[in-house]
Amino acid sequence: MFTLPKLNYEYSDLEPTIDTKTMEIHHTKHHQGYINKLNAALEEHPELLKKDINEVLVNFKNLPDDIKKAVRNNGGGHSNHTLFWSILSPKGTEPSGDLLQAINDTFGSLEEFKKQFEEATAGQFGSGWGWLVKTESGDLKIVTTPNQDSPLMDNQTPILGVDVWEHAYYLNYQNRRPDYLSSIWDIINWNQVAKYYEE
Ligand code: MN
Repeated sequence: MFTLPKLNYEYSDLEPTIDTKTMEIHHTKHHQGYINKLNAALEEHPELLKKDINEVLVNFKNLPDDIKKAVRNNGGGHSNHTLFWSILSPKGTEPSGDLLQAINDTFGSLEEFKKQFEEATAGQFGSGWGWLVKTESGDLKIVTTPNQDSPLMDNQTPILGVDVWEHAYYLNYQNRRPDYLSSIWDIINWNQVAKYYEE
């Protein structure tokens, strides 16, 4: 069975970028909801319940047709939120080393990367995610996905992801998604992003 990951910080620790109430509902209701539905959908497939959810998503195309929709939505939801919590931190950090070098080589500068990421992610129509991914050839790329689709389904490794479903920001920012995005950099755990980049 899949279970809700514990956070490395308190719900209130990401204030003012993400408010306490949003964090609590997001983690205990939304993320837990995806996990509950995923476990229910895979009841008849116990071998998949033992796997890492990211491994299941990488092999998405080979899954039985009857569970594809549930895995895409709820398995994606579980994987995406697990990554999201892990790359947030109460302490602001900055990228360094190989990751910073790759960002500079790919986007010109960290500021230019942030600008392009915010633009792409603000422009995701409806619910979805903005991502910094590592492609199969090891390059960095900004992509967006609708709903709970995971970049892993396209053989891309997400190393930074930002949830832009309204449930992620509406209490604090209402319709102002760009304000949420420009504030998110204050709580990015770049050390964890670098770990995903180096894996
Ligand atoms: Mn969410």
